Amino acid sequence: MPKSLYETLGVSKNASQDEIKKAYRKLVREVHPDKNPGNEERFKEVQGAYDVLSDPDKRKQYDRIGSVNGRPGAGPDATTFDFGDFDLGDIFGGLFNRGRGTQQQAQRGQRGNDVEVEVRVSFEDALQGAEVTVPVQLELACHTCHGTGAAPGTAPVTCPQCDGSGVVATSQGLFALQQPCPLCHGRGSIVEKPCPTCHGSGRERRTKRFKVHVPAGAKDGTRIKLKGKGEAGYGGASAGDLYVVVRVEPSKVYERRGDDLIVQVPVTYPTAALGGTVEVPTPEGAVSLKVPSGTEDGKLLRIKGRGAPRLKGSGKGDVLARIKIQVPKRVDKKQRELLEELQKVSG
Ligand SMILES: [Zn+2]
Ligand SMILES: [Zn+2]
Repeated sequence: MPKSLYETLGVSKNASQDEIKKAYRKLVREVHPDKNPGNEERFKEVQGAYDVLSDPDKRKQYDRIGSVNGRPGAGPDATTFDFGDFDLGDIFGGLFNRGRGTQQQAQRGQRGNDVEVEVRVSFEDALQGAEVTVPVQLELACHTCHGTGAAPGTAPVTCPQCDGSGVVATSQGLFALQQPCPLCHGRGSIVEKPCPTCHGSGRERRTKRFKVHVPAGAKDGTRIKLKGKGEAGYGGASAGDLYVVVRVEPSKVYERRGDDLIVQVPVTYPTAALGGTVEVPTPEGAVSLKVPSGTEDGKLLRIKGRGAPRLKGSGKGDVLARIKIQVPKRVDKKQRELLEELQKVSG
């Protein structure tokens, strides 16, 4: 059962405007999120009730039909709960594109910014996957006032100029011209005593540290999305997202091509000519590779399934051994004789 606005403020239906004001002041101190974190809903409810009952016209209307007129730009707080048996959202929902609760605020407020940050990982960590700590400077809700902008022990009050709607409308015949309220800049509430930490903005820059899992096989430029970990939204709107861009340090051994790893393998001229076996390094240890006879310099020989883990799907890429034929810089007497003999028969 939805409570009546009088019940929300804990006053009788015949309460004077002064009694309503006193009850509101007392309640706001009690339920302010600063004192009772997690109390935001109740806080909004109290503000919404006061928004209606503090205004004699709105109060009269509420008493008469259990609702207030859903004129365009009516207060956000006025629609965050049910008015008796009426649900303004149903009646005026299509017309004024209203939601309720947080949805309503998301429309009014602006979503927080997305933030992108880079993290460096070693080549080996990128192959195996790693947990990294990423420090990020973010604009967040002020920790002193929890984003309200009001000094501790006080609360923002409904803006007197726009009655909390955030919009002022001048009616001209059938058309209503709407503008953001010049006093509260569209927020619907004003802060009488600004929070000393954020000077009333409700926001502050802080460094937050996130533990991020870099998946095995991450590539240079892989983006990891942390939903809702970006900057705080405005006026209760959702936070932005955080994107962590992985920067992989180059390896001294491997060159990465997709999920394949290319590695230079020195091979002597006789082995390349006659065929033989060489040792090839892979991330999981050396592998013996058969070099066929007549292998040319620069040829790529494939070792299946020994490359980088595939980010999407399963399995691994390959290791590609790039044959590099070694030319001896110095030769001993025996080698010289053999090479001269070879030169003769090749010529
Ligand atoms: Zn603050
Ligand atoms: Zn205003």
